Amino acid sequence: MTNEDIEKIADDLEVKSAQEVLEWAIGEYPKIALASSFGAEDVVLVDILVKIKPDATIFTLDTGRLNEETYDVMERVRKKYNINIKSYSPDTEEVEKLEREDGFYSFRDSIDARRQCCNIRKVQLLKRAMSGLDAWITGLRREQAVTRTELKKIEYDEGNNIVKLNPIADWTQEEVWNYIKENDVPYNALHDKGFLSIGCSPCTRAIKEGEDVRAGRWWWENPEQKECGLHH
Ligand code: SF4
Repeated sequence: MTNEDIEKIADDLEVKSAQEVLEWAIGEYPKIALASSFGAEDVVLVDILVKIKPDATIFTLDTGRLNEETYDVMERVRKKYNINIKSYSPDTEEVEKLEREDGFYSFRDSIDARRQCCNIRKVQLLKRAMSGLDAWITGLRREQAVTRTELKKIEYDEGNNIVKLNPIADWTQEEVWNYIKENDVPYNALHDKGFLSIGCSPCTRAIKEGEDVRAGRWWWENPEQKECGLHH
């Protein structure tokens, strides 16, 4: 499929609901999976996806530095929907080398050091998770970050060489939470403590009212640099 084909489909999908986008994507790409970190957007997508395809592939990157609340919501989701969550862990030798040589908080030293940690604990896992897939689904939304304002509902993910679906790209935060409440979807307890975007424990904090959604992630960096290498 060419970039032009993808752009044309993106125009068609723009007016479709998240359910319609997922139904279309499941039909089009037999080997498709949802990448979930079990934040608010991701649990919404789990709910929508499982209602369409109960045995859909849902994977998560267990970086080894997640909050207890994240494991808790993963377990509640797993039980509620009776699903297997395909978890991926970092390479033991690489983590051991990183921690032994650079310590336990090397990601605070520089952007490169932070990216190195994200690479070992996230990006390499994602590569493994995506090998053999035709497409992946994310919970990215346009209003989440300055790096995401141009997001389409379907894109060609050049970095990972795969089609990427963003079915709730046009949703507002309010729509996400309305969906969670109306459908009684389990969510991460940290959201009730002021956390909006949840990643690894040492790299995530609560935000104050009025702050940007992603202000609680890698708060010591500039907004333009706040991607972990999973989304290009
Ligand atoms: S978010 Fe922080 S702890 Fe997690 S992989 Fe990236 S740098 Fe490492």
